Amino acid sequence: MKTTRNEPIQMVDLKSQYLKIQSEIDQSIQEVLTSCQFIKGPKVSNFERNLAAYLGVKQVISCANGTDALQLAMMALGLQAGDEVIVPAFTYVATAEVIALLKLKPVMVDVDMEDFNTTAAYISNAITNKTKAIVPVHLFGQSAPMELILSLAKEHGLFVIEDNAQAIGADYTLTNGHQQKVGTLGDIGCTSFFPSKNLGCYGDGGALFTNNEKLATKIRSIANHGQSKRYHHQFIGVNSRLDALQAAVLDIKLKYLDQYNAARRKVADRYDEAFQEISQLKTPFRSTHSTHIFHQYTLQAIDFDRNDLIQYLQDKGIPAMIYYPIPLYEQIAFAPFVSKKMSLPNTEKLCQSVFSLPIHTEMGPSTLSYIIEGVKSYFK
Ligand SMILES: *Cc1c(COP(=O)(O)O)cnc(C)c1O
Repeated sequence: MKTTRNEPIQMVDLKSQYLKIQSEIDQSIQEVLTSCQFIKGPKVSNFERNLAAYLGVKQVISCANGTDALQLAMMALGLQAGDEVIVPAFTYVATAEVIALLKLKPVMVDVDMEDFNTTAAYISNAITNKTKAIVPVHLFGQSAPMELILSLAKEHGLFVIEDNAQAIGADYTLTNGHQQKVGTLGDIGCTSFFPSKNLGCYGDGGALFTNNEKLATKIRSIANHGQSKRYHHQFIGVNSRLDALQAAVLDIKLKYLDQYNAARRKVADRYDEAFQEISQLKTPFRSTHSTHIFHQYTLQAIDFDRNDLIQYLQDKGIPAMIYYPIPLYEQIAFAPFVSKKMSLPNTEKLCQSVFSLPIHTEMGPSTLSYIIEGVKSYFK
């Protein structure tokens, strides 16, 4: 099925994507139904192995969702109540939420105006003798400057947990020219398989990656009630598992991940080219250290009211979303954790100026042209 203008334009078109791989997906799901191995079993372990091979990492531990992955990472690293964890203020709530949930202290730092990610300099300014970990977020599909962050972490003896929910499949190029998958450079990488993520399932799912075997064993145990053997509980854990049905979907979709990311990049290239001439739109920056897999295509509105444009587009049937409208430190839930006076200039500016256009793996040329012409016509 083609996305035509008769169908409403969506931010993400999961239905057309499914229809293209329907027979493979349906068969894989059918195998789980027939086997009745709904929890753990071969579908889950195969997917973990295949994802580990794809990422070039020793261990992948699947879990129930991306938020749990972050929580499990912090539990496995043995972070204790009161420990400070540095996190960007411009991110999805989950990143900081689990820090607070575990009674750790979220220390929010600013982000760069170009790539929307935090920097080693902002992190460095926030380090105290209570700091135990850094959680860089690879926002919208592009890596934070990991080499600088890792050397800072090494210097201060800090753990690095990468929130890779938005950048699975992106490549990081180290200064020595060596390439590694984003999310595999820190102590632990975490991802989400929420349906709209670049590698998404048909429900909730998540995973952690690490090259540290001991840590992997501990994460596996904590994700399964802290048990090493059935009914032998070594840690206080949680119940956080990836359903076999979701693993069945993911194992198929993993084969297409590079293709999917390339399709998103092609849409982004077209947008970039089209919007280059519009001085009031700042197109997404592409860093030299990381490929961009465009989980979102995010523009900055320069000196005009983006809400006016969003309304204008909506009237033409073109959706646009704001990721994220409010700095985390201004969220009511985080009031007990931050100073009332906290204000990070770049985060503030971005929360007021960014907006994202539809981007997905199935966008046809006519839809893309329609969106581009719609945006351009606003500035005429
Ligand atoms: C989606 C997302 C998460 C959380 O993933 P869930 O699977 O929805 O729990 C965490 N961090 C970031 C940056 C995300 O985009």
